[in-house]
Amino acid sequence: MIWKRRRRERHGAIVCHMGKADTYRLSDEKAVRMMIALREGRTLRTFGVRPARLQTNFTDHPEFAREARPLMEANTKAAHLRKGAYLREKSHCVNGHSLAEFGRVAMHKGWMTRQCRACEVMRYRRGGIMKPAVLEQVRARIAAGSPPNRFTKPGAGYLLRFDTFARYRRENPEFNRLVIEARESRVYRTP
Ligand SMILES: [Zn+2]
Repeated sequence: MIWKRRRRERHGAIVCHMGKADTYRLSDEKAVRMMIALREGRTLRTFGVRPARLQTNFTDHPEFAREARPLMEANTKAAHLRKGAYLREKSHCVNGHSLAEFGRVAMHKGWMTRQCRACEVMRYRRGGIMKPAVLEQVRARIAAGSPPNRFTKPGAGYLLRFDTFARYRRENPEFNRLVIEARESRVYRTP
């Protein structure tokens, strides 16, 4: 129904589909409540006043418009500045690191974000998830007697980060045994 009203307004004559001009007008009581809210610094959307109704009141009561308009503008500006205050004022990250010490503000996927360098180090040390294709190659290299540092150190033969390899060992005891056995057979191999 709202879009119908708006279209009629655009065509000049304000025709109310309810047949009563009062439909567009705020009640005096609501106008008073609105002024109180505006003086408290609130914005229109927080007390549910539609701009179309407000416009009628402004036209009928210019003195009301004179006081309300600048307040609306100022409150909107202030509300805009308050946006993101929750994140801006955070002192610690979700894992309890001090953001004064480890915090960084950076653009991420088009948004300004707060990042935690201590969490990054934590995530790095925890290691990533090994892809099945990489696991296959790793198993082949271990079976061929290659020590892990041959494929976890950057350079020729590199397959994956050491932390990712270590994490897979921690989480898969069967694989871990395989790595240990391979090392033992290398160390105790008779010439
Ligand atoms: Zn953190």
